[in-house]
Amino acid sequence: MKAARIIPLYCLLLWTSVFAQEGPGTITVEPAEIPQGGIAVVTFTGKEVAGAKVFFGGTEIVPFPMPDGSYAALVGVDLERPPGAVEISVRGRTGAGQQWERRATVSVLTREYPSEAFSVSPSFDQIDAATMKRIKREQAEFDRLWKTRTASRLWDGGFLAPVAVQITSPFGLRRVINSSPRAPHGGVDLKAQLGTEIAAANHGRVALRDDFYFSGKSIVLDHGGGVYTMYFHLSEFRVEKNAEVRKGDIIGLAGMTGRVTGPHLHWGARLNGARVDPMELLKIAGRQEAPPKADQPMAEVGSRPFDEAQGRQ
Ligand SMILES: [Zn+2]
Repeated sequence: MKAARIIPLYCLLLWTSVFAQEGPGTITVEPAEIPQGGIAVVTFTGKEVAGAKVFFGGTEIVPFPMPDGSYAALVGVDLERPPGAVEISVRGRTGAGQQWERRATVSVLTREYPSEAFSVSPSFDQIDAATMKRIKREQAEFDRLWKTRTASRLWDGGFLAPVAVQITSPFGLRRVINSSPRAPHGGVDLKAQLGTEIAAANHGRVALRDDFYFSGKSIVLDHGGGVYTMYFHLSEFRVEKNAEVRKGDIIGLAGMTGRVTGPHLHWGARLNGARVDPMELLKIAGRQEAPPKADQPMAEVGSRPFDEAQGRQ
């Protein structure tokens, strides 16, 4: 595989933040310039902020309380979101019933993704009608999950890498097979021998545990608040569906199930429906330390649909 070098443009940028102050509350967004596939933290504070809603370019994001009385929300920027200005707003209501809104504008920056082109025998790439039906059904199952937001936060503190980090295929890699561009790589492939223990990146619930055409034996953990991590191509499951897991728990063993050529772990992450670089989750360590609240009922909120995978996990 000839993957071009990743150009981490965002590394050159200063860690800047937006700080807006109008009316009874303030909103802070860090960083104010977010690369595609990146994550920002929105914090808002002030009187009567409980129950306020956060919107990122129209997508609702679930905020969580911080120990100091403020609220925070993790904003994920999809790897294919067009670059440019995006408005973040926090909307709430005072005790007297008066509506208030705070706004901040952030910039989504282009991230340069590596690409590779190769050819395979056309027969290798052909998918029959029955398989296509299966792929579409499985895709719909994933899409339904991304639209489901558990209102409370289950994750706490920093995120862990599920195995020792050695990236064999980078996030966002664009593949062109037989001159036809495929969906970009929605996660990172981490080196993992057959049978390597896979750890939960944070506390959560096993929202999905099944065998899929592309991703093979797959687990998706719901960490609450619209944060999901996924673990694909496993050889064995070590947890049941709907089980509560703790950070570091072994949830399965690495393998090569699904459409892959060798054993590895595909590790992916979704935030508010957006495909984000899971390695970015590791960087938010230590910034979110509020204790998780008791679980609350599932809430479904609108999110824009994403055309995932299409032959590529
Ligand atoms: Zn992968």
